[in-house]
Amino acid sequence: MTVAESPRASAREVADDLLAAARAAAACEVGSYGRAAERAHAAARALRDTDRDAAAAARLGAALVELGEARRRAGDVRGAMEALDEAVELGRSSADSGGGEAGWLGMAYHRTGVVFDTIGDPTAAVTALRNAIEAFDRSGDDDGVARVRNSLGVVYSRAGSFPEALEHFGASLRHAERAGDRAREAAVSTNMAITTRLLGQHEAAITFAERALAIKREVEPDDAAGATTNLALALAAAGRHDAAANAFAAADVAHERRGDPHDFGEHLRSHAEFLVERGSPERVPDLLARALAAAHQAGSTALEAAVRRDLASYWKSCGEHRLALEQFEAFHDLELRAERALRERAHEEQRWQTEVALARSEAAAAQRERHALAEQFERLVSDHRDLSSRTADLEIAASSDPLTGVGNRRAYHARLAVEVARAAETTRACSVILLDIDAFKEVNDRYGHITGDEVLRGVADALRAAVRASDTVARIGGDEFAVLLPATTCTDAIGVARTIRARIATVGGLSAAADVHVTVSLGVASSDEAAHDASRLLALTDTRLYEAKAAGRDRVVPDGPSRLER
Ligand code: GH3
Ligand code: MG
Repeated sequence: MTVAESPRASAREVADDLLAAARAAAACEVGSYGRAAERAHAAARALRDTDRDAAAAARLGAALVELGEARRRAGDVRGAMEALDEAVELGRSSADSGGGEAGWLGMAYHRTGVVFDTIGDPTAAVTALRNAIEAFDRSGDDDGVARVRNSLGVVYSRAGSFPEALEHFGASLRHAERAGDRAREAAVSTNMAITTRLLGQHEAAITFAERALAIKREVEPDDAAGATTNLALALAAAGRHDAAANAFAAADVAHERRGDPHDFGEHLRSHAEFLVERGSPERVPDLLARALAAAHQAGSTALEAAVRRDLASYWKSCGEHRLALEQFEAFHDLELRAERALRERAHEEQRWQTEVALARSEAAAAQRERHALAEQFERLVSDHRDLSSRTADLEIAASSDPLTGVGNRRAYHARLAVEVARAAETTRACSVILLDIDAFKEVNDRYGHITGDEVLRGVADALRAAVRASDTVARIGGDEFAVLLPATTCTDAIGVARTIRARIATVGGLSAAADVHVTVSLGVASSDEAAHDASRLLALTDTRLYEAKAAGRDRVVPDGPSRLER
């Protein structure tokens, strides 16, 4: 690690530690879980703002999953859904952008399903859980698939869709067996036992309940109370009363030792109901009295109401009408309260569902708007590109000669104005060569216009070949060309003109169709001779070209110092 990298690297380490801490805090009470998740989320988000790589996305995604779960447990359903939706979005886009399969995407969907289950929307829960299975499947996470299928089974079972529930529990169980995950095997077996019992499949219910209990005793002997009750219920449903009685008695002890008053109270109710059905109700008042105490200890109105109703029907069956009435009145009171609470809860659920739907549609609208803006931007960029290239084409067309491809008169005059002005400023003269083909009319007359055009192109090529890239070549009339040479003295320009004259006069063969030879006359002048004035320079070159023609053509005027060498 280099010195420059170390602060960032340690920030990543801290963020990873915070994430691990949040995951560990999931087992703690809801407040500390929430705080740990918030801290992990803040650290992951800060890093993601600067690191755009897959690892940063994965860290933020995982932190959002924890945050979502912590918020759900704290009752903040909307906040939970926001965090989980963002995690899903992040997971999907990093899978799409080739960032590999996002490991947390399945988790995000799974937790989303649990939120929907919490707010009483089994349809949405099933959709989310199915997405979770798909995501875990794609990332090859069999364990994840097994976890989700158990949750899916619970949602189906609660909704009364027992066959679907069994199918998912079965798949989850097979995976737990293969993976040697004993805790999950016990949990899913319990779910199987409950569901098969509700379906009236008594022997299967007993088998699953026994299996769950055996595993619990092996791996978590202090937590076997629930599994024992479950076995007792399965046995009772199958009519195996003695075995059921033993199991209930064992469960009494186990629950008392375990110390969860709510579970204990529910168990005592089941036990009492069993004794009533069996026709040996002597211990029922005692069991229900203990259940009542447990309900108070748990602070559960619903449990207390249920126990009071059980007591009312028990006293009624004994002919103890006064006692029955007392219990029934208490039950009725609690029921009224419970019903109000239930209505509030239903109301609350409705509100949550609406809020979640609203938040999601807002998010979807924002997403659509972002996409539309991005598309609009792309279109503008491409329109602009088209426009620029069309403009460039137009500029070329407007300034070039279509026959020869060199500049036209307009381009030449524009360039001349610039270069003469620059020459005036820098006092470095620029020069102009004006060239006219000799007796060009004859070429046309003898060989035709097409050949004449070829000759014009040949002359343009010869000019281009003779000058520098910074010089400008233009066709400014029918058979008249000009060359503008920036920062060039008249003497040097005369040298260039002579080269051009000689090349055109000697090379010949300008036309493929005929062996056409032409000569040219050239007038040369420089800006310092014309007081750095463009019009005067043009007039001077014109005069010199005329002089060259008048002196017999095929020559450069002025002939310059090199005349002696000619
Ligand atoms: P001089 O030596 O005095 O220049 O004689 P000349 O015959 O070249 O006379 P001048 O320069 O006046 O004639 C130019 C001729 O160029 C006239 C015209 O027929 C021809 N010409 C002008 N434009 C074109 C063109 O685009 N293609 C062809 N093939 N010929 C052209
Ligand atoms: Mg001519």
